Amino acid sequence: MASNIKSYWKNYINGEWVDGSDGGRISVEDPAQGSSICEIAEATIEDVDIAVAAAKECFGSRQLADITPARRLQMLMLVAQDLRAHLDEIAHVVVLDTGKRILDARGEVEMAARYFEYYGGAADKLEGSSIPLGDGFMNYTTHAPFGVSAQIVPWNYPIIIAARSLAAAFATGNASIVKSPELAPLSVYMLAKSCERVGFPKGAVNVICGYGNLTGAALASHKDVNQLVFTGSVKTGQAILRYAAELVVPAIMELGGKSAGVVFPDARLDDVVEGARNGIFRHAGQICSAMSRMIVHESRYDEVVNGVVKMVEGLSIGPGIEDHDITPVMSAGQLDRVEGYCLGAAQQGATVAAGGRRVPNQAGHFMPPTVFSDVTPDMTIANEEVFGPVLSILKYKEPEEAIAIANGTEYGLAAGIFTRDLERTHWAAERLDAGQVYVNQWHAGGVETPFGGMKKSGFGREKGQEALLNYVQTKSVTIRTSLT
Ligand code: NAD
Repeated sequence: MASNIKSYWKNYINGEWVDGSDGGRISVEDPAQGSSICEIAEATIEDVDIAVAAAKECFGSRQLADITPARRLQMLMLVAQDLRAHLDEIAHVVVLDTGKRILDARGEVEMAARYFEYYGGAADKLEGSSIPLGDGFMNYTTHAPFGVSAQIVPWNYPIIIAARSLAAAFATGNASIVKSPELAPLSVYMLAKSCERVGFPKGAVNVICGYGNLTGAALASHKDVNQLVFTGSVKTGQAILRYAAELVVPAIMELGGKSAGVVFPDARLDDVVEGARNGIFRHAGQICSAMSRMIVHESRYDEVVNGVVKMVEGLSIGPGIEDHDITPVMSAGQLDRVEGYCLGAAQQGATVAAGGRRVPNQAGHFMPPTVFSDVTPDMTIANEEVFGPVLSILKYKEPEEAIAIANGTEYGLAAGIFTRDLERTHWAAERLDAGQVYVNQWHAGGVETPFGGMKKSGFGREKGQEALLNYVQTKSVTIRTSLT
């Protein structure tokens, strides 16, 4: 299939589209074809310096402070409109560089637009307070922006992850530099295009691409960065936290997960099966909050395994542009990794109920939907993040045991409950160590609901009103008002 996109993309720094300072380029691959579709300029350390200086100048000149909150609201709404006006074009690019199905890509662009709308709507409502001090003094607090916000984005949902940070940062008066993911950078550039068309000040939004250990590290350790927003793996998050410690700047950490859905005896089978389809097989399971484990009561175990396997047998596998259910994983390396976990699970005694080996003779990186039954909590597949279309189904007898298994990994991003019993719902939601709990529908919620992890899944929250507070610092002003 012809990719039908331009063959070379540039970085966006200080309102200009520029080459890498040493002319370097990164090849971008279509995961469904396993071949290069275009190149993108690689930002050097010098380019990082230029981008940070542009953001610093934009913030320091008070251009952002001079844009009233009401105008910021309008500008963010205009970006949302612009994204929707270009939805088909951007969704096409999202399919090409992430491999996901066109239906999901369209949903991703729509959600990116919603972030701009949502944080646009909040831009003129970030109110401070006045603290009573008694006669002779008055106090008020304001929410001051940090200044230069560096945002490092992973490849699975680049445009929505960039959108949620950029929109919140601009709404609160920060200037941003986004480091797009080297494997799937293109849609973040489409976002910069929208900001350019709306007329953001030069330096308010900068988008650069480059490898993590070079460009990413140079940005995260830059002395003029005032706040770090990171979404990605635990290992990289730990590296970035070390930079944050050196710089003494705050960091938001949105990291990985090994999320579990607990199926109680009274669960509706349809909800559970749909939870598996949406929770672990969408975007080939490459979702941080994917339901990679299902913990099923022994009275329903065989029925659930059979129901999930039957659903899986009906899923089509193929390129996202043809809107198949199971789309490719991101890269050859990711395919090796996912298949390696599957081979290891079988060796450790899990039963392959579906899939288990890559789709043979394909140029693209296709892994079939895979279901393991007879998984026990001690197995590697039950503990480590696979980031592929692989579901592990475990069994429990007592509710306390189900909670202990669900909480038994180092992660705490999402968890799910399948039951029709309200008391059981609250009992389990209270005990699950997870930043978000989904009841009877995996991935329930939207841009309005705070999102983030517990334990090694990270800290700080993106999405929702709460996220805005990560982009500001409280300033307290106290005035002596007595006349003597
Ligand atoms: P990754 O950690 O390898 O890379 C993420 C980003 O960090 C990329 O842009 C990369 O270039 C950059 N990077 C890598 N090394 C760096 C370094 N030393 N310094 C600075 N930047 C560096 O993660 P990935 O493979 O792109 O994404 C998959 C991971 O992201 C999974 O673990 C997934 O669960 C997680 N994720 C979490 C969320 C969330 O909201 N919690 C959302 C999506 C993905």
